[in-house]
Amino acid sequence: MSVLNRFTWEELLEAMEREARKRHAPVYEFKKHITTPFHSLVAVLLSSRTKDETTAAVTKRLFQRVSSPEELLALSEEELAELIYPVGFYRVKARKLRELARALIERHAGEVPRTFRELVKLPGIGRKSANVVLSHMFNEPAIAVDTHVHRISNRLGIVSTSKPEETERELHRIVPEELKSKLNRAFVAFGQVVCKPVRPLCDACPLAEACPKVGVKA
Ligand code: SF4
Repeated sequence: MSVLNRFTWEELLEAMEREARKRHAPVYEFKKHITTPFHSLVAVLLSSRTKDETTAAVTKRLFQRVSSPEELLALSEEELAELIYPVGFYRVKARKLRELARALIERHAGEVPRTFRELVKLPGIGRKSANVVLSHMFNEPAIAVDTHVHRISNRLGIVSTSKPEETERELHRIVPEELKSKLNRAFVAFGQVVCKPVRPLCDACPLAEACPKVGVKA
């Protein structure tokens, strides 16, 4: 059984976003501070191993001071570490951010590249981060699979996979091209406030009747 027996992809993403907005998912607050591809790249690097609320507060503070790789590089590693505290591994991330800014200036004239191949060559940017930037900022049909996307796709019976890379491959096969760039945002928002990692709110979930709840303990 899969949720797709009852919902089209469009209906599914809409239902997820509607419920997540009603419940004020942190990702929407976070999104307000991210208006350029450079912001997106920096935010995605800051967000690893950090709560969304913390990343939202730090990006707001940082982006009031810094809006380009040049401005970021003008800050010392210590100043930057102070600005991004308390994100996880803030000292390591301060160093990585400076390396990222330098690479953007030296290899791409200060611009964020628009291809997966170039993005994953940047310091601190992996597969998921590259796909976030491509889908959120450039509207490319990329699918960023993080823990929310991987977990929820399996619970809903859309895929049956054990690794995020397998989930990404499967989703690419079955998600309509024009909806791929929207999938990450909808799944992340829904995963933050409804289909949470621990104790998902199945009793209040708009998908409950169509969801096989794979792996969810009663
Ligand atoms: S909250 Fe429960 S019913 Fe809703 S999608 Fe997650 S596992 Fe399915």
